Amino acid sequence: MTTRIVIIGGGQAGGWAAKTLRDEGFDGEICVVAEEAWDFYERPPLSKATLLEPDAALPRLFSEAAQQALNLNWYRPLRVESIHREAKTVQLSNGEQLSYNILLIATGGRARLPGAAWEQHQQVYTLRHWQDAQRLKGRLAECKTLAIIGGGWIGLEIAASARKSGVAVTLFEQQPALCMRSVSADVSAHLAAVHREQGVDIRTGCGTLELEDNDGLPTIHCDSQRETYDAVVVGIGVDLNLELAREAGLHIDRGIVVDAQGRTSDPAIFAAGDVAQHHQYGLCIQSWAFAQNQSVATAKAMLNADAAGYDEAPWLWSDQYQHNIQILGIPQPDSKTIVRENTLFFSLDGNGRLAQLVAFNDARTVKLAKRWMAAGRDLSDVPLADPTFSLMSLR
Ligand SMILES: Cc1cc2nc3c(=O)[nH]c(=O)nc-3n(C[C@H](O)[C@H](O)[C@H](O)COP(=O)(O)OP(=O)(O)OC[C@H]3O[C@@H](n4cnc5c(N)ncnc54)[C@H](O)[C@@H]3O)c2cc1C
Repeated sequence: MTTRIVIIGGGQAGGWAAKTLRDEGFDGEICVVAEEAWDFYERPPLSKATLLEPDAALPRLFSEAAQQALNLNWYRPLRVESIHREAKTVQLSNGEQLSYNILLIATGGRARLPGAAWEQHQQVYTLRHWQDAQRLKGRLAECKTLAIIGGGWIGLEIAASARKSGVAVTLFEQQPALCMRSVSADVSAHLAAVHREQGVDIRTGCGTLELEDNDGLPTIHCDSQRETYDAVVVGIGVDLNLELAREAGLHIDRGIVVDAQGRTSDPAIFAAGDVAQHHQYGLCIQSWAFAQNQSVATAKAMLNADAAGYDEAPWLWSDQYQHNIQILGIPQPDSKTIVRENTLFFSLDGNGRLAQLVAFNDARTVKLAKRWMAAGRDLSDVPLADPTFSLMSLR
C-alpha cells in the first residue's frame, strides 16, 4: 500500500510542502485539495506589482513544468468540509471522501470585514486572493478617491500603490498609531510621516466607522463627518481558517498549536503557514517567510521524525514607495527603542537583547541582526544610535 499525504490548501505553505516532499524523495501519493482554481501562487505581489503593472501575471510559486513534475493529484476548486480523525478521512465539498495516512492543514485566512453592510456594498474591496487583486486593480484604474480602512501592512501597501497610480487616499485607523500591534511607537510615527509626505490623509484614533450607500458609492461616517469615496478597501486583518482543526478537536490557541516539526496534537496531522502558531512565540506570524520555511521544515518532519524542525525568528517585509521595510522579531512590553537616522529602529528588551529590528532599505543590517538575535547578544552598551559607529564592526 502506498502512503497518501493529503494537503488542504493550495497556497504558499501547501505548495512548499508538496515541493519539499518530492525533493526529499517521497514517491507516494500527494493529494492537494484547493478551494482556488489556480496553481500555487504567492500573495505578496497582490498589493504591489499586481496592482501596478498592466499585464501582471499570476505570481506562481513554481513554473508550470516544475509543478507538473511534482505529480500531484489535485482536487480543485473544492473545499475540505470536515476531518474524521478516527477513520483518517476528509470529506470534500463534492461529497467525496479522501483517506490519508498523513494530513497537512494549510488553510491560511480570509479577509475580515466590519459587518454585513460592508460585505454587501459593491464598492467595498478586500485583498486576499488573486481575483480580489484583479477586481481592485480594475476599480483603481477608474477611481479618483479611495478610503482605506486599517493602517496595518496591507493597508499601507495598498495606499502606496494607489498613490503611485494617482488616486487620492484617506486612511482610517482605529488605533492611535499605524501598525501598532507589530512595531514600536517610533516606527509607527515614521511610517505615518512617509505616507503623509506622499499625500495620504491619515486619520488615526478614528473610532467606530459606519458605512452608508450614496447612489452606489460608499459613504463613511467617522465621528460627525461623512465623506463619499469612489471605493473603499478594508484591510483590518484576517480570520484564520481554523474551523476544520477546531471541529476535529485539535489543540488550538491563537492558531493551531504545533511543535517545531509542525505536528499538531494528533501525530498524523500537521499544520503549516498562517494557521500554524509559532511554537516558541505563541503567535501566528502570517508572513511569507514563515509560510515557506516552516512548511518546508514540516514536510521534512512528515518523512523523518528526527528532522531538525523550524527555528527561525519572525521576519517579514513590506514594500512602500521607494522603501523596502524589513521587520525582524517582535517588540516586548519592556522594550526600549533606539533610532538610528530614521532608518534603523532597534528594540532592546530589559536585558539589552534585540527583540526587534525594523530596517528601512538596509538588508545588510537585518542579516547581521539575525545573528545577534540567535546568539542572544547583549547590545546595551553598543552606541546603536550613533551614525558614525560602524555596525559591521559587531560582526
Ligand atoms: C495582499 C497580501 C500581501 C502580502 N504581503 C506580504 C509581504 O510583503 N511580506 C510578507 O512577509 N508577507 C506578506 N503577506 C502574507 C503572506 O502572503 C501569507 O502569510 C501567506 O500567503 C500564507 O500562506 P498560507 O499558505 O498559509 O495561506 P494562503 O496563502 O492563504 O493559502 C491558503 C489556501 O487554502 C485555501 N483553503 C482554505 N480553506 C480551505 C478548505 N477548507 N479546503 C480547501 N482549501 C482551503 C485558501 O483558499 C487558500 O488558497 C501578504 C498577504 C497578502 C494577502
